Amino acid sequence: MASTVYVVGHRNPDTDSVCSAIAYAELKQRLGHAGVRPARAGELNTETAFVLRHFGVPVPELIEDATGCDLILVDHNERAQALPHIERANILEIWEHHRLGDLRPPAPIVFHCEPVGATATLIGEQYFLHSIEPSRAMAGMLLAAIWSDTVNLRSPTTSDKDRRMAARMEPLAGVDASFSEEMLRLRTDSVEKRSAAELIQEDYKEFEFEAGRVGVGQVEVMDSDALAPRRQEILEQMHTLRESSGLMQVILMITDVQAGASDLWVVGDRLDLFERGVGPLHDGVIRLPGCMSRKKQVVPLLEQAFAMVDAPAGR
Ligand code: MN
Ligand code: MN
Repeated sequence: MASTVYVVGHRNPDTDSVCSAIAYAELKQRLGHAGVRPARAGELNTETAFVLRHFGVPVPELIEDATGCDLILVDHNERAQALPHIERANILEIWEHHRLGDLRPPAPIVFHCEPVGATATLIGEQYFLHSIEPSRAMAGMLLAAIWSDTVNLRSPTTSDKDRRMAARMEPLAGVDASFSEEMLRLRTDSVEKRSAAELIQEDYKEFEFEAGRVGVGQVEVMDSDALAPRRQEILEQMHTLRESSGLMQVILMITDVQAGASDLWVVGDRLDLFERGVGPLHDGVIRLPGCMSRKKQVVPLLEQAFAMVDAPAGR
């Protein structure tokens, strides 16, 4: 029997990480790789659970430690976002749409990274390149993941390839725009019901910059004032997280999906660096019109801000 290879996305998994893993594992199986199975690196969020339930797809196995595993990674290529002990895993492939990270497997691997709106777009393309039609459930996984990552194709990360892939998957999946609106409603509605810790951590990633490690959470809301009444409570939670994780800063990106803008709430040290790279903070907040994407818009700004350009030579 062939040994098991797990396809797995990032920690704090989102719909793209979970559904791309499921659909890619199934494609590999249909291509004759019987030992390939989907996995997840954490608990499912409300939206992802809804999508899996709708299409009758079982929840993938949870992996908590990568030690000794044969892995195909989807939707990440940074150590800080990968399973614990990722350096002790055997990474066979990476399918990705984020910045180049710091995972460097020692041997040659398949590494496909492309600036599209969702990893699912790249997985969908692989189905068609191999002339394999996705089942209804797999088309549903891919379509939901594209909708989720691109905020129903509204995010500036959305490429023509995402639009084409979504249009091809829609009839196969048998769902329409009302399904994507329901997904978005689940994401934005649950904001009021979640604790401050859940709000920050649900879609949370850590990034290693030259000046230090920074945590960036993102919350999508229908109305930018939705979290204003809970500001004190959320800021306290951000401070707690920063201290317990030894981070330079914690940033919460509150994205208004109607207005297509984000407020960034920032706590921590070296706010001068943040302001130099991103812009002036007013009471710890900066509003970025037109900004909806952490990977494409916020992280590149932070990369500049925290590049330590003024560091003395020879250091
Ligand atoms: Mn993701
Ligand atoms: Mn993604």
